[in-house]
Amino acid sequence: MIVVGVDIGGTKSLAVRMNDAEVVEESRVELDRSLSALDAISRSVDSVLNDEVEAVGVGIAGLVRQGDGTFLWGPHVLGSNLQIRTEMSDRFGMPVHVDNDANTAAIAELRLGAARGHSDALFVSLGTGIGGAVIINGSLYRGGSFAGEWGHVQVDRDGLLCDCGKRGCWETLASGPALVRLAREVVSVNPDSSIARLLGSSRITGEAVVAAADAGDEIARALVTDVGRAFGQGLANLVAIFDPEIIIVGGGLGSVGESIVGPARRVLIDAVYGGKVRVPPTVRVAELGPAAGAIGAALQAAGEVR
Ligand SMILES: [Zn+2]
Repeated sequence: MIVVGVDIGGTKSLAVRMNDAEVVEESRVELDRSLSALDAISRSVDSVLNDEVEAVGVGIAGLVRQGDGTFLWGPHVLGSNLQIRTEMSDRFGMPVHVDNDANTAAIAELRLGAARGHSDALFVSLGTGIGGAVIINGSLYRGGSFAGEWGHVQVDRDGLLCDCGKRGCWETLASGPALVRLAREVVSVNPDSSIARLLGSSRITGEAVVAAADAGDEIARALVTDVGRAFGQGLANLVAIFDPEIIIVGGGLGSVGESIVGPARRVLIDAVYGGKVRVPPTVRVAELGPAAGAIGAALQAAGEVR
């Protein structure tokens, strides 16, 4: 079956056309901020569409109401209350499946990636924020609709202001922006440090700080370890709730791998409840890279047709 999957973020989208489990075409589209999310999805679908496509899957960052495929809201996407499923099935004349992008990425990792062969898994995306998905008995657990938004579990009532409007959410301490904030503080206090020279005057990103750490900069490594440890502390909390067989870490920052996942794994071993008498779950880096969200959306679209 030929299907299309798209993953819509705040500044870019990624689309794939798949033939069963194989990606046959992939396309990245930079999104103009003035473009509505619906037009952005259309443009992204068009970039890989052909006459053989039977269904479209959409993954989008934010709250998606599964019942009618409506995108309610997301801090990084322009627009709210968008009836994506209705609008897109009208535009393209085929079934459309809409889901949160962490859910679609989790489905991709479960069927084709790092969670293959497991029935109870957590997918945790680490990037601009922290999101995720819960797999129980081989299926997505959605709760009422929005399960897995654990980046917004409050860990410090008086902590930093989060994008969501609350204070001290887990993602304010453990995410790309948290790492960037720590690096900026060091650079502004000590502009002659090696990390300041490595990061240069351009916009600092979490990935750039990790690259500086991997290049041997001691301060950068300390910052990355700090954020990795805060990430691992939260993973220990999730294990206390779900006790999954495996945790898959994806997202832009999570995908850089061991530099950040290594410290998290060490904290998890120390901090997990009953740590002395149990083996904590395996923590593994996602395998499908940035295309996971689009691939999972396509797999879900195929499920709509079958
Ligand atoms: Zn929050």
